[in-house]
Amino acid sequence: MRYIGTRGGLERGYSAAEAIREGMVPGGGLFVPESFPRLSLKDIEELKELRYEEISLRILKKYLSDYSEDEIRECVEGAYNDGSFSHEDRTPVVRLEGDLYVMELWHGPTAAFKDMALQLMPRLFVKAREKTGAVEKNLILVATSGDTGKAALEGFKDLSGIEVAVFYPEDGVSQVQKLQMTTTQGENLSVAAVKGNFDDCQGGVKGIFSDDEFKDSLKGVELSSANSINLGRLLPQIIYYFKAYAQLLRDGEIELGERVDFSVPTGNFGNILAGYYAMEMGLPVGKLICASNKNNVLTDFFKDGVYDRRREFHKTMSPSMDILVSSNLERFLYHILKDSERVGQIYDRFAREGIFSVKEEVVERIREVMDSGYTGEEECLKIIEEVKRRYNYSIDTHTAVAMKVAMERRERKVVVLSTASIYKFPSSVVKGLGGEAGDEFQEIETLRRITGLELHRAVEGIEKLPVVHGECIDREGMREYIEKLAKK
Ligand SMILES: *Cc1c(COP(=O)(O)O)cnc(C)c1O
Repeated sequence: MRYIGTRGGLERGYSAAEAIREGMVPGGGLFVPESFPRLSLKDIEELKELRYEEISLRILKKYLSDYSEDEIRECVEGAYNDGSFSHEDRTPVVRLEGDLYVMELWHGPTAAFKDMALQLMPRLFVKAREKTGAVEKNLILVATSGDTGKAALEGFKDLSGIEVAVFYPEDGVSQVQKLQMTTTQGENLSVAAVKGNFDDCQGGVKGIFSDDEFKDSLKGVELSSANSINLGRLLPQIIYYFKAYAQLLRDGEIELGERVDFSVPTGNFGNILAGYYAMEMGLPVGKLICASNKNNVLTDFFKDGVYDRRREFHKTMSPSMDILVSSNLERFLYHILKDSERVGQIYDRFAREGIFSVKEEVVERIREVMDSGYTGEEECLKIIEEVKRRYNYSIDTHTAVAMKVAMERRERKVVVLSTASIYKFPSSVVKGLGGEAGDEFQEIETLRRITGLELHRAVEGIEKLPVVHGECIDREGMREYIEKLAKK
């Protein structure tokens, strides 16, 4: 399998290892597969007997054709094992009622769905370095709205030849998220708060990646990305869509070939894009439901084809979705339009004006695979309460956003992707459940009492750990910060 650029600009297709090492297409754009590999219904039926690790291997080897089967197996078994995941199904699907299901993507080491990709991607990255003739050091830059940061720190911790720098918005993450990051020990790990919001962090990192002069000045050090624009983040996320379907088959909930919807709490559009890849590969998906919070730029786009980021940025109780520039949408547009020149024009205009639009016929094509909706702040709390009352099941704020839209749009069996443990966002969940407010650690105790749900080991005792990364910088200070790390 070869990878090409969403805006063209490559003289030849890249191998997966090259694409994973580069992160972004040099000169602009994202790597996309040249075509989609297919699984037949018979292939899909076979998955129901398999463990997560084996399903991973079957999916990944279709994309990582330059990795040997042994290499992929080693990466997969290192990533998804009993030590890192507390559930044997890794991503269990739970039935709430009738046609409504939840897939729990938070059983990994940091309690958010980012682990699904970031336990595996660093392993693929180390192999990519070996395969492509590594430079002395790779410096991985991560802009995070909270969850990616910790998951990347855990995934890359102590890997040789790799240095990691994480940037998070100073006031844009929860107390638990902040502590998860600032207390992570590791020789090769650095974390800094940035004065601004997530788009400032991501904008800063993107600016650095597209500045060749700056990159050349970091002699012997190559910058890479672990953000969801990296192909190595996207591919692992395809796996659990197949796993969910296989589990529903295994449990007798669906017939082979029956279509299922997935409702996805969306920010940077990486998770739902992986669902689209699964669909293109032959998974019987009815609709993918793109659920946004109050930052509903995507809902508007799916309605009238106008993507306009020039609007107020809202800080919400689902901070990992507080994003106005959904980077992976570019890949989706490429697949829908199949025209890299057009995608290049769209993103040129977007960079200049902060707005772009597509024709009505394109919107119609998009609507054939995607539905969309959003959930406001009050509704988010109400849904947390309602789901607890009706099903005795507890969900976090991100999951609640997708749950509400799924309940409204329900046409057939729908699986809501649950992207974080309730213990990661205790304040809002406690509020939704009518518990008493306190500091986040008191609230975690309250949650334990109200829900009876076992405390996630990712947050257990972190309030007692020493803070080892206390720095706070301006967006303008990011370059200097990186220069210092490159010299380390
Ligand atoms: C990252 C994240 C999301 C959004 O996922 P995207 O792939 O960026 O769309 C949703 N929920 C949680 C908890 C997250 O950490």
